[in-house]
Formats: sequence, C-alpha cells, structure tokens
Amino acid sequence: MERTHRRTGPGTRPGTGGRAAVTLVTGGNKGLGLETGRRLVEAGHDVYLGARDRRRGEEAARRIGARPLLLDVTSDASVAAAAQAVRQETGGRLDVLVNNAGIAGTARLARELTAAELQAVYDTNVFGVVRVLHAFLPLLAASEAPVVVNVSSGLGSLAVAADPAGHTAVVPTWLPAPAYSSSKAALNMLTAQYAHAFPELRINAVDPGHTATDLNGHTGPQTVEEGAGIIVRMALTGPDGPSGRYVAAGGELPW
Ligand code: NAP
Repeated sequence: MERTHRRTGPGTRPGTGGRAAVTLVTGGNKGLGLETGRRLVEAGHDVYLGARDRRRGEEAARRIGARPLLLDVTSDASVAAAAQAVRQETGGRLDVLVNNAGIAGTARLARELTAAELQAVYDTNVFGVVRVLHAFLPLLAASEAPVVVNVSSGLGSLAVAADPAGHTAVVPTWLPAPAYSSSKAALNMLTAQYAHAFPELRINAVDPGHTATDLNGHTGPQTVEEGAGIIVRMALTGPDGPSGRYVAAGGELPW
C-alpha cells in the first residue's frame, strides 16, 4: 500500500487521495458506536453503520446520515455478506474500520465461570473482531492509508490487573470481571500482533473510559460524547500516525 501525503479538502483525510474516507463502525446502532459514527459522518466520512438488527440499524443510520449495514460479528455468513455489500458499493475499498461491537457478557466470578460462558463473550469481543478483520482486510488493502480502531477497555490491561494499586490513574482500575476483562486483554494482544503483521496499517486499541451506555446499565460517569472522543481521534489517524498502541483520552495505557 503506497503512502501519500496529499493535502486534503473538507470531508477527506490524509491518504485517501482527496476522496471521502469509507468507514465502517461495527455495533453502530447505539452507544459509543452510534456517537462515533455520527462524529465521523460530521467529519465527512462515508460511514457504514453496522448493526445486527436490520430495523434498528436502519433507524440509527438514517438519524446520523450513515449507510446501514446488516452485520452480526458472531456470524461468518453475515460478516461475509456485509463485506461483499461494501465491496460492491465502494469498488472494493475501506479506509477506516472501527471494531466497536462488544458485550459485557456473563458477570460470573472466576469460581463459577464456565467455558461456554467465556466462549460466548469471546465470540463477540475477540473472534468477532478477527472475523471482521479477515473479511475486510482485502478492502483495507485497497486504501492508501488504512486505519483500524479496536475498541478495547482499561479492564483489559494485564499490567493493571497485576498491580492495581500501582495504576490508580487508570479508571476504572481492576475489577473482578474475568470474562469481559480477559476478552479485552486478548483483543489487545491481537492488536499488537496485527500491527506487526501489517506495518502499512494504523491499528490501535483504545479505551473509551467508563461511559454511561446499555453495556453497564448506564452507570459510567462519562457521556457517550466524552467516551467516543478517543475512538474518533484514533479513527482520524493519518498515514504517519501511531500503530500498535493502547490508548485512552489521557494518553497511553500500560498493556
Ligand atoms: P452498547 O451501548 O451496549 O453498544 C454495544 C453495541 O455492540 C450495540 O450496538 C450492540 O448491538 C452491538 N453488538 C453486540 N453484539 C453484537 C454482534 N454480535 N454483532 C454486531 N453488533 C453487536 O455498549 P457500548 O458501551 O457503546 O460499547 C461499545 C464498545 O465499547 C464495546 O466494545 C465495549 O466493550 C467498549 N467499552 C465500553 C465501555 C463503557 O463504559 N461503556 C468502556 C470500555 C469499553 P445490539 O443493540 O444489537 O445489542
């Protein structure tokens, strides 16, 4: 993939050759994904808003001026069909992929946790990201400046889990949530692995911070406008931007 440094006009980003960036946000029908999609439409991107429910996806996309895309990240067939649809409509190019779809999954503690419950969480938060990357990497390869944002969590930090008292600046700090936290730790490692494997890709893991959404029963102190800030910032990473990083609004997080 050739890197370009052309000046860009409104609604474009570095490396897209002056065209509107084609962007996909998974799990975009509500919460952080919807706000991320809204802000990227505002920034001039041609946004596909992924949703596993057709009606809710279409309603959300209409509200923000995005294109609805039926996409269940746990289904190989759904992901393949979504990639085929984007390929046909865009001529085979994707510039920005935001892997946002995620679930909290079981709240069971380690003593009670079963492999089946863990598998269900990983199917969305880990395998879902790999499914989407596998299907969309050929489209990203057609971009002059491909960007991937993996929406992780501070709870995925092994460094914080190993020493919560030493990392009080990371909020929320360690919590007993083995399924969710380990899924995000796996996502972090995958981010590092893909960054090494694809040096032409800007791929980073981000922690939006504790944000009031359906995922946590709206207990987070941040608004979605605040939480989506770092996702949007990393989605707008230029061809010379960072890759293989784990970042939050306040800066880099300890892995
Ligand atoms: P949310 O409001 O519950 O939104 C989650 C989105 O993911 C929804 O659109 C949901 O669709 C979608 N989704 C779930 N399973 C899916 C599947 N199989 N296929 C496609 N889409 C699917 O939660 P959120 O807080 O905005 O979460 C967004 C991301 O931020 C997640 O990855 C989460 O782990 C991460 N995060 C959140 C926080 C926080 O405090 N909120 C903190 C750190 C990280 P449905 O409406 O169909 O369920």
